[in-house]
Amino acid sequence: GRASPPLAALSQVLRLERSRRTGIVFPLQKLERYLAPGTDTARFRLFQPGLAALQRAEALFRSDRGHPIDYVSSAVRMDHAPPPALPEVCFIGRSNVGKSSLIRALFSLAPEVEVRVSKTPGHTKKMNFFKVGKYFTLVDMPGYGYRAPQDFVEMVEAYLQERRNLKRTFLLVDGVVGLQKTDNIAVEMLEEFGIPYVMVLTKIDRASRGVLLKNVLEIQEFVKENTQGCFPQLFLVSSVEFSGVHLLRCFVAHVTGNLPTVEAS
Ligand code: GDP
Repeated sequence: GRASPPLAALSQVLRLERSRRTGIVFPLQKLERYLAPGTDTARFRLFQPGLAALQRAEALFRSDRGHPIDYVSSAVRMDHAPPPALPEVCFIGRSNVGKSSLIRALFSLAPEVEVRVSKTPGHTKKMNFFKVGKYFTLVDMPGYGYRAPQDFVEMVEAYLQERRNLKRTFLLVDGVVGLQKTDNIAVEMLEEFGIPYVMVLTKIDRASRGVLLKNVLEIQEFVKENTQGCFPQLFLVSSVEFSGVHLLRCFVAHVTGNLPTVEAS
C-alpha cells in the first residue's frame, strides 16, 4: 500500500516541539491566545482527551490482519444500506468542503482503504459505507451544492430519519469561507429531526489566523443561538497538515462507544 503521510500517526506528532504539537493535536486551543481577554473559551475544552485516549483511538484507525478497515458498499436508497449492525457516524457537507480529503486523512493509517469520489456532474451521488473492524461504520454522505437536488434531500433525509445506529453526524464547514447559506439545508434537517451533530471546520491551513478566528467565533455564536443538537465545541481540521485529525479520530471513537473513559489532558 501507499506510505502514510507525515504526521498521520501520533508517534510522529510527538516528536515535534511543544507548540507545534499543540497546534496539530488541539488546533482550537492554539487560537485561544489570540482572543480578546474575557472571551468565553469554556467551549474550546469540552472534549480534551489525554495522550492515552488519543492513542487508543488511533489504534482503532490502524488496520491489520485481525482488524480490517474496508469500504463496504454504496447505496442510493435506504433499502440498499448495509444492516445497522454497528454504531455509525456520518460525514456530510457541501461539495468541495474537503470531505473526501478528511475521510482519507482519518483512514491514512489504513492505506488500503479506497475513498471513492464521484464528482462527475450528473452522476448519481451515493452514500459510501466503511467498516472499521467490528467497532463502527463510517458513512460518506453525498455532498450538497448551491442547488441541493431533490434526490439528495430525499436520500439524506431518509437516512437521518431511519438510521437507528447513527450515533453522531459530522457537518463539515469550509474554514476559509465559513458557514454558508447552503449549509442551512443540513443544519435545518439535523435540527428538525433532533439528530446530534458536530461542526467540523475544514482546510484550516488555508485560512489566515484572522479569518479563522472570525469564522470560529461566528460559528460558535450561531451554534449557541440557533441550535439544539449541535455539540458546542467546534472541531478544526487540516487534511494536509493533519491538524485536528487525531482529536477527531478520538471523538469518533468516543461517540461510537469505543472509548468508554476519556481522561482529560
Ligand atoms: P469534497 O468534495 O468535500 O470531497 O472535497 P475534497 O476532499 O475533494 O476537497 C476539495 C478541494 O479542497 C481539493 O482540491 C482538495 O485538495 C482541497 N482540500 C481538501 N482538504 C484540504 C485541506 O485540509 N487543506 C487544503 N489546503 N486543501 C484541502
